[in-house]
Amino acid sequence: MTTRQDCLALDAQDPLAPLRAQFDLPEGVIYLDGNSLGARPKAALARAQQVIAREWGHDLIRSWNTAGWFDMPRRLGDRLAPLIGARAGEVVVTDTTSLNLFKALAAALHMQTDSARRVIVTERANFPTDIYMAQGLASWLDRGYSLRLVDSPEELPSAIGADTAVVMLTHVNYRTGYQHDMAAVSALAHAHGALALWDLAHSAGAVPVDLHAAGADLAVGCTYKYLNGGPGAPAFIWVPKHHQAAFRQPLSGWWGHAAPFEMSPEFAPVDGIGRALCGTQPIVSLAMVECGLEIFEQSSISAIRAKSLALTDLFIELVEARCGDHPLGLVTPREHARRGSQVSFTHPHGYAVMAALIARGVIGDYREPAIMRFGFTPLYTSFADVWDAVEILRQILDDQAYDIAATRGAVT
Ligand SMILES: *Cc1c(COP(=O)(O)O)cnc(C)c1O
Repeated sequence: MTTRQDCLALDAQDPLAPLRAQFDLPEGVIYLDGNSLGARPKAALARAQQVIAREWGHDLIRSWNTAGWFDMPRRLGDRLAPLIGARAGEVVVTDTTSLNLFKALAAALHMQTDSARRVIVTERANFPTDIYMAQGLASWLDRGYSLRLVDSPEELPSAIGADTAVVMLTHVNYRTGYQHDMAAVSALAHAHGALALWDLAHSAGAVPVDLHAAGADLAVGCTYKYLNGGPGAPAFIWVPKHHQAAFRQPLSGWWGHAAPFEMSPEFAPVDGIGRALCGTQPIVSLAMVECGLEIFEQSSISAIRAKSLALTDLFIELVEARCGDHPLGLVTPREHARRGSQVSFTHPHGYAVMAALIARGVIGDYREPAIMRFGFTPLYTSFADVWDAVEILRQILDDQAYDIAATRGAVT
């Protein structure tokens, strides 16, 4: 069995280990929740100071031009693009994931001119906001659109058909860490004349994504998770060049206008990815996204993936070897190709056990039903962190050092 000594040896050989110094993490914390809120790049503090004191405080409105505020959604989109297999001019960082999904889904429905296509296929296990936004849009349009929710990826082939407008899925499931085969599902959608819309909230910066090679049609995603953009940092939307002319979205605000400062009473969308924009962006928050992206540029997604799989394999191995007497159930696929960068285990008292872990500095999180979720972020998580986290979990379980009254009735 792997020892702590072995973990220290793995850390000594880890090419990504030096990047941990670029993050500010509190002493005594093992942070396994970067899949929900990424850690703070040290550079973000100075950048915030610069944006607030210099660009806003001193340069005032001139900063829209002199500090590049206007261009920031496009500039950040171009910097993010290589992480998801997108090209320059195809991504903007803007709005929230929920809003971008709404825009992308509305545009996709509009691109499908066949009125027999009125079904949006997604998974019941999708992150709820994605389902809610689709439900909201479908009922708002009031043209007979409906959602078809599948209960497992295996049901997709029978759920997609001649009535399907869009297959809308989250690439890596937030709860289980299951990773779809993006190329296979996109091909399946296309074989039936449907479009493939992907949510990369748990993929960008965590697993290799090649949207063009996979034949995806549209995509959205989050920057405050693995991309370390800061709490509530603006999300992204990808519209490939070949779909941009046909891309029309209902939030037709002035930032998507061809000539916003002509102040025309007529909306005319700008050519290119800018038509995915709506209104004025939260510049302070947007500026933080760049600090996270700069760290990725000192690494490679293949090195990140290799370490992510090593970390998640190690965590599974150690939990099963050292906590094997306890009623833990692995929810995350063992198969590498189907796994994201997290590991989820069920435990009948999952909520209480997670609360005890957090009290002892191991920060993961809990999702109904009974799921303890551990995110592994290769830029700042070490192999020794994994060993130490499992040791604390083992102690809590062996000593029953958790408060069952803290559960929320979470029994599988
Ligand atoms: C995290 C996440 C979101 C978050 O959406 P917000 O609009 O930023 O609140 C949406 N979808 C998925 C799949 C997510 O994992």
